[in-house]
Amino acid sequence: MNCDLHTHSTASDGALSPTALLERAVANGVDCLALTDHDSTDGVAELAEAASRASEWRGEWVAGVEISALCARLPIHVVGLWVDPDSPQLGALLERQRHVREQRAEAIAARLAAAGMVGALAGARQLAAAAVLSRPHFARWLVAEGHCRTVQQAFKRWLGRGKIGDVRCEWAALDTVIDVIQAAGGHAVLAHPEKYRLSRGKLRQLIGDFAAAGGDAIEIVSGPQERADTERLLQLAVASELAGSIGSDFHSPAQHWSDVGSAGRLPAAIQPVWDLPRRSVMVAP
Ligand code: AMP
Ligand code: MN
Ligand code: MN
Ligand code: MN
Repeated sequence: MNCDLHTHSTASDGALSPTALLERAVANGVDCLALTDHDSTDGVAELAEAASRASEWRGEWVAGVEISALCARLPIHVVGLWVDPDSPQLGALLERQRHVREQRAEAIAARLAAAGMVGALAGARQLAAAAVLSRPHFARWLVAEGHCRTVQQAFKRWLGRGKIGDVRCEWAALDTVIDVIQAAGGHAVLAHPEKYRLSRGKLRQLIGDFAAAGGDAIEIVSGPQERADTERLLQLAVASELAGSIGSDFHSPAQHWSDVGSAGRLPAAIQPVWDLPRRSVMVAP
């Protein structure tokens, strides 16, 4: 089975519409595709429609989301899979997250203005259009205005870790995020554990905290990665009795190293997240 359970569309910071994403998944031989936009399920309806129209698509599509969260003070990402986009609890959480994003965007723009780059908020908003406002929109604005040559450079100079655009945010707490995903009928997956650049001890602790908070699975493979990293994550997941997931974290065809369906296969030594029994959606009292 070629599963890709972590992808983005134009509903957040991806380059392709959900329809174009599905077409690419068909072309790349994907059997199971999850759309997991940042703090949004807005693209899911279009994905569902595209899947029902595409006669070549015989796979399963999954309603998903990638939620920014805080574990203690560490910002992390939690992917929710098989969520009900109409869940009121999920809707309320995502609305709050987008409010946090708006506040952060104002702070980023103020800091960029103080550094001589004026007009970032309006510029990023325009580039985002209906999408969830995120740092890549600021990066694209910085490039469009000639402040940087590439998006990568924009992150390296202004938006990345430790730079002025790296504003602390009051994202929802990890246990809340897990609870809300599960109340929406979903499975909660710790996204790309290697991307937080933690020491071995801290990574072990994060995965332990995630399991203790009731998380379901971790991404064993996220985009291209070293075999040793896959092996380490596999051992940590098994030790914490978590299931495994895989995804490309696809954003754009320009990033050819993480194309849709390129994450490969989940190692046989771990229970796949797609084999866990599905949760039913919790109805609010
Ligand atoms: P946000 O959710 O608004 O904080 O934006 C995070 C997104 O920015 C990630 O999901 C990536 O798509 C993108 N991103 C983060 N770091 C980098 C980087 N160094 N270069 C390019 N894109 C990045
Ligand atoms: Mn992204
Ligand atoms: Mn992420
Ligand atoms: Mn992602």
